[in-house]
Amino acid sequence: MRAIQIEKTGEPEALRLADVAEPDPASREEDCVVVEVHSAGVNYIDTYYRTGLYYAQTPFVPGLEGAGRVIHDPQGDIAEGTMVAWAHAFGSYAEQVLVERDKLVFVPEEIDTDVAASMLIQGMTAHYLTNGVYDLSEGDSCLVTAGAGGVGRLVTQMAKAKGATVYSVVSTPEKEELAYAAGADQVFGYSEGLAESVRRHNGGRGVDVVYDGVGKTTFQESLEVTRPRGTVCLFGAASGPVDPIDPQELNKHGALFLTRPSLAAWTANEGEFHMRAQAVVRGVLDGELDFRVSGAYPLADAVQAHRDLEARKTTGAIVLHVKDD
Ligand code: NDP
Repeated sequence: MRAIQIEKTGEPEALRLADVAEPDPASREEDCVVVEVHSAGVNYIDTYYRTGLYYAQTPFVPGLEGAGRVIHDPQGDIAEGTMVAWAHAFGSYAEQVLVERDKLVFVPEEIDTDVAASMLIQGMTAHYLTNGVYDLSEGDSCLVTAGAGGVGRLVTQMAKAKGATVYSVVSTPEKEELAYAAGADQVFGYSEGLAESVRRHNGGRGVDVVYDGVGKTTFQESLEVTRPRGTVCLFGAASGPVDPIDPQELNKHGALFLTRPSLAAWTANEGEFHMRAQAVVRGVLDGELDFRVSGAYPLADAVQAHRDLEARKTTGAIVLHVKDD
């Protein structure tokens, strides 16, 4: 089958179209179902595996999420052709992938395939950030970095739905518009005085929580902008990993809580995974979540998809088209 394979980690050019063996459920200890991939979600975490920041043994097929139809269920429970989506299946940049049975999400017909392929990682992340890491409520305030990005737009929408005030940071006027459209109360550009500017808008208090997926270039401002005993949630490293930090820094900034969460840890048990997945599916179906797919590329153009993501050219989810519906 056709797949994108990485033989040596590095630049986007490391993503090569290759002919690889079809996956065999008997090769895995977990109870897996074989799925034909129609569309694969492209996520920032895929770039961490591609560069070697996160480890995977080479050669490997990257990608974790997607949507498509069940080809073969070794248990015979799920009918062939059933439309499903997934978020935790390594090797999704391929014509077929093995998905653990308890990590399958059934996709209602009303949901577009590209949306289904890219809604779970970003959607469940936004859900656990706003309904878990820091459970926002009416009157709370938060700062979201990359507020026009995939996770950023969804965090903004979920935070607004809970009655919080949302301050957002973006890099361009087009992204500013998108962040406001997602519901942000005030949008800022990246600057050294970011924390001070945000504080001027909330009476000097500082925000209850920062959701920082940018990392290296924003982390210091994230510490500065958080109110005493507030939460700094560092959930990504789009600009690079943050330097090691002395815990005394948290004391200096007012006894802050710092966390570095992952989707895997916040969906570790089956009940929590499905609760968050269903919240996303319901939000998309009801129209309460305005999910945006800002780009679709043929599987063979995975290189370009990664280039665009890393060059800050995307404004929402992006996907690889593996098979026409
Ligand atoms: P985005 O759509 O948000 O794309 C990344 C954005 O980061 C860019 O568009 C850009 O927005 C901003 N950015 C700031 N500085 C840089 C830089 N130097 N290089 C590249 N981008 C930069 O991606 P996602 O929504 O997919 O992911 C956002 C973050 O969330 C990532 O760090 C990702 O790893 C993390 N994540 C974490 C998860 C977890 O559970 N911990 C799960 C899913 C995602 P702008 O131009 O406006 O600054």
